[in-house]
Amino acid sequence: MMQPHTSAVIPCPLCRAPLRNTADFCEKCGAERHFGPRRIELISGMIGGCALITTASLLLRPFSLWTVLFALVGIFVGFFYAHVRFGVDRWLKGEGKHK
Ligand SMILES: [Zn+2]
Repeated sequence: MMQPHTSAVIPCPLCRAPLRNTADFCEKCGAERHFGPRRIELISGMIGGCALITTASLLLRPFSLWTVLFALVGIFVGFFYAHVRFGVDRWLKGEGKHK
């Protein structure tokens, strides 16, 4: 049986150690493959979107039920923004849990 050697190995983007292309983390430097936003990025996106849209709405009109609605819209916008911006396959420095 032939084994596909060459195409199955990729270099670690951080330390260049050879990795299997199905690997989720690098044993050498602890880098981890992430799909989608990390929790902190999701939360900061939601807070940022909420603050931004709430501020914008307060500039246009005084505080009212609309302000609350805009704040909720901002949270959703931030949530989707984080998924669009960070919704790719990324390698990040590991937090040490594989060491
Ligand atoms: Zn590595």
